[in-house]
Amino acid sequence: MASSLDCILFDLDDTLYPFNTGIADAVNKNIEDFLIQKCGIPEIKAPILRKELFETYGGNLAGLRALGHDIHPDDYHGFVHGKLAYEWIKPDFKLRQILFTIPLRKIIYTNSDIKHATKVLARLGLEDCFEKIICFETMNPNLFKATRSNEVPVLLKPSMDAIRIALDVANVDPRRTLFLDDNVSNIAAGKALGLRTVLVGKSVKSTEADYVVETVHDLVQTVSEIWVSAESNGDNETMNGS
Ligand SMILES: [Mg+2]
Repeated sequence: MASSLDCILFDLDDTLYPFNTGIADAVNKNIEDFLIQKCGIPEIKAPILRKELFETYGGNLAGLRALGHDIHPDDYHGFVHGKLAYEWIKPDFKLRQILFTIPLRKIIYTNSDIKHATKVLARLGLEDCFEKIICFETMNPNLFKATRSNEVPVLLKPSMDAIRIALDVANVDPRRTLFLDDNVSNIAAGKALGLRTVLVGKSVKSTEADYVVETVHDLVQTVSEIWVSAESNGDNETMNGS
């Protein structure tokens, strides 16, 4: 039986490594510090605004620029990711082994900037496991040329336009592409565009998720169709849950 899949799009943060490394909390704290120190938001309001901007715009940089704050993406990403303790992310040899057995195209699709994505993949020991990285810069090529902050909107998952760019850059048929993400809204948007979806890091499936896995390692047991083409080709390097 031939595989019904050609490609897997992997989200990065909280998908390829667990949400409880401390990195996610540190990022949130840095975003709140950015709102306070660079945007003059009162300390007490920063946590609420961070959540509101994330839910409404997909990210805080997107929200702040849409609201007219003239923030350069590099300054924002430097502040939010610059001081992170990347050593909290540990090499994942098991995931590396699993990725090497997957007989499909493998692409990172993250809202993060390329510097952060590269550092995280290096810490995980996975820097050579993916064909390409689709990231903030890929979705926002014209942002750096904008003269006004709200002239060009920041595109991020779960915006449909952002996902369409990713599908185009990846050059994939969404119906033959598996999309992994820990964010329920991203999964819903991906499903609406025809992607096959895996919600990662949760125990309960959301409506739009085709599969749910508590960790990315569980793909082996839960989404065995990934390895179907390898089996049909007589390839012995299939994962069997070991
Ligand atoms: Mg994520």
